Amino acid sequence: MDDLQFGKRNKRGDWVPNGVLDSALLWAWPPSGARIVAWIKGYIWPWNLLFMASALLWWKLVLPDVAAMRTLGWTWPLKLLAANWVGMFFFYGAFELRYYVSRVQDNRFKYNGKFPSEQPSDVFWFKSQNIDNFIRSFFVSVPIGTAIEICVLWSFANGHVTFVSWSEHPVYLACLTLFAPALHEVHFFAIHRTLHGGPLYRFVHSVHHNSTNPSPWSSMSMHPVEAALYFGVALWCLVIPSHPFIVVYLIHIAGFGAIVGHIGFDQLRVSDSMSMSSHAYAHYLHHKYFEVNYSDNGTFPLDRIFGSWHDGSPEGDRLMRERFEKKKRRLNAT
Ligand SMILES: [Zn+2]
Ligand SMILES: [Zn+2]
Repeated sequence: MDDLQFGKRNKRGDWVPNGVLDSALLWAWPPSGARIVAWIKGYIWPWNLLFMASALLWWKLVLPDVAAMRTLGWTWPLKLLAANWVGMFFFYGAFELRYYVSRVQDNRFKYNGKFPSEQPSDVFWFKSQNIDNFIRSFFVSVPIGTAIEICVLWSFANGHVTFVSWSEHPVYLACLTLFAPALHEVHFFAIHRTLHGGPLYRFVHSVHHNSTNPSPWSSMSMHPVEAALYFGVALWCLVIPSHPFIVVYLIHIAGFGAIVGHIGFDQLRVSDSMSMSSHAYAHYLHHKYFEVNYSDNGTFPLDRIFGSWHDGSPEGDRLMRERFEKKKRRLNAT
């Protein structure tokens, strides 16, 4: 597929899609059936359905009965950690291998024309974005996310939180399962916006932003504090009456779902005649410009409401620069 039919490439080799980014089609005004159908399709397919399937797999094959999770011990927590490591390695590794090592589509549809392996930098451990990001994901973020998952599952097993059963409240739990990606979006916006404030950015979130040209391994490359806040989305199950499966689903949306904004390509080649949209552009713009698009605004137009939306257009650029100027003037005046 010729990417120049769908966007433009500048002299540096960076590719920009034509048109503007949509946000939260559900709330677009005036309401339109076609837009609502497009929102439902984007909300479910392909990512959230995939994470629901992986959560089901973990629920059936990795986790023991809820009764067995009453005691912590080593067996089930270590099995869960091993499964999360293996899952992350193969899931992220598959994207890395196909699009960054084998380069099945070279830099077609790639926002940043360069590949991270071509750009050694002192900001990364071993001067390599790939090695740095992999070590942080594997040895920091996955263990922290798993520890939170274990604590919340243990709390359910011991009756410390309200346990809702599928047989008694199937409709409520089905609605909660459908709402889980939206909960993740709001949680992520809130912690992400907070992490961009002063010292928290300097000491914590800047680790993630070292990757200005993000690739799959960048997705979970985080400072430990950020990893705890990020996977802390599962802690909502301590206050919302729910079921431990939803804990696993939330962890999978956060853990595997982090790849969505960091793929680096707008379209992913699946076969000679088929490609799929990555939904990566909003978060790519966040890595490029820092103070825009704190969430991907799939369900709620949060960045529009809080004045930080960038739709990828020249007009979006102009509004962003105006905001930056205004902020600079405000800071200079104090
Ligand atoms: Zn990111
Ligand atoms: Zn950020």
